[in-house]
Amino acid sequence: MTETPKNQPNSLARRPKWPTSTSRPVVTPLQPSVVYASPDPDALDAQYDEGSGFTYAREGHPNASVLAQKIDGLEGMSGGIITGSGMSAIGAVFLGVLQAGDHVIGGDQLYGRTLRLMADDLPKFGVQTSLADPTDANAIAAAIQPNTKMIVVEVVSNPTIRIADMDGIAKLCADRGILLMVDNTFTTPRGYQPFDHGADIVIHSVTKLLAGHSDATLGYVVAKDPSLMEKINIANVTWGLTPSPFDCWLAERGLQSFDLRYDRAEATAIELSAALAGLPGVTRVLHPSRPDHPDHNRAAKILGNRPGNMMSFEVAGGRKAANALTNAAPDLPFAPTLGDVGTTLSHPASSSHRALSEAGRTALGISEGFFRVSVGLEDPALLIAELTEAIAESQKA
Ligand SMILES: *Cc1c(COP(=O)(O)O)cnc(C)c1O
Repeated sequence: MTETPKNQPNSLARRPKWPTSTSRPVVTPLQPSVVYASPDPDALDAQYDEGSGFTYAREGHPNASVLAQKIDGLEGMSGGIITGSGMSAIGAVFLGVLQAGDHVIGGDQLYGRTLRLMADDLPKFGVQTSLADPTDANAIAAAIQPNTKMIVVEVVSNPTIRIADMDGIAKLCADRGILLMVDNTFTTPRGYQPFDHGADIVIHSVTKLLAGHSDATLGYVVAKDPSLMEKINIANVTWGLTPSPFDCWLAERGLQSFDLRYDRAEATAIELSAALAGLPGVTRVLHPSRPDHPDHNRAAKILGNRPGNMMSFEVAGGRKAANALTNAAPDLPFAPTLGDVGTTLSHPASSSHRALSEAGRTALGISEGFFRVSVGLEDPALLIAELTEAIAESQKA
């Protein structure tokens, strides 16, 4: 090593040459660069004309591209994009596709923030919205207006685990020329393939099962029609809804084990729901695998043998029992997320559904003793033991 001569002009701000190597990294490199330098104006012009390559990270970067391609593969599509969150995926669709005077119908049990976006934000831009019960295609049909542009549904409702009438809704959309957008976060491409069943647009909160480790907040959106996809992409870039390279890098790493995680968590959810259903004090267990599920036949038809990792249960004894239950299960994080490697518990009455009146919650079947479980990767026997103990404690309260 030669020493840098003293008193030379400072060049620390110059980026070093990247060392070359004929061997290549096996792991996806993380590329945080905001900008990409071009050799000359002709080259930059050509790149813009082709719409290829990278110029500025808000407009696209390699870590978003590789992640999008992987999720495209799962959904059987191409041209999907990554957004900064699940909500920004929904935002990019609304901003790219809708205009003042349009009407949108949403399932009445959509993710809470999606409901809020529809109730409070879209009307500010002159877009009308209605909510209807997606388990009943007739209720959705009754909400259709001449200006209905889009119907937004989740296949499995949160936290009541009801199954939407996807075939009925898809037929309505096809007959009336309405766009069908499916939020496939809960079901994932492993449980449901929306494009095989009439969807026009699919979004994901990648934050949840796909990334799977609760350390990255991201979304994904893909549309069947390339011209629609272009509008959504432009909205994503223009409104700055685009993702961080680091989050994409983490999510791409997490996604490598998605299929294994999903299968394991789903198998455990089947086992756990069967075990909880027999316990004293448990008044209800909701999982699509169970024959007593209110939509069991539809679940079998739509999801086949992929009932997923999300389940809910109810204990007798109201809020007092609920407090005792979470206190007796300190190793099961009581936290409002889902799809993590670890099992999490949530209590909708005090979190996602606290803004509803008690009558509103009762109508949905959400009592003070109602819990949602996002089943993770723990040993099923451990989970069953922990919840059995916690439920027993809840009944002493
Ligand atoms: C979490 C979630 C969202 C929002 O995703 P974020 O990544 O938190 O913005 C949307 N839909 C469903 C079904 C979700 O669970």
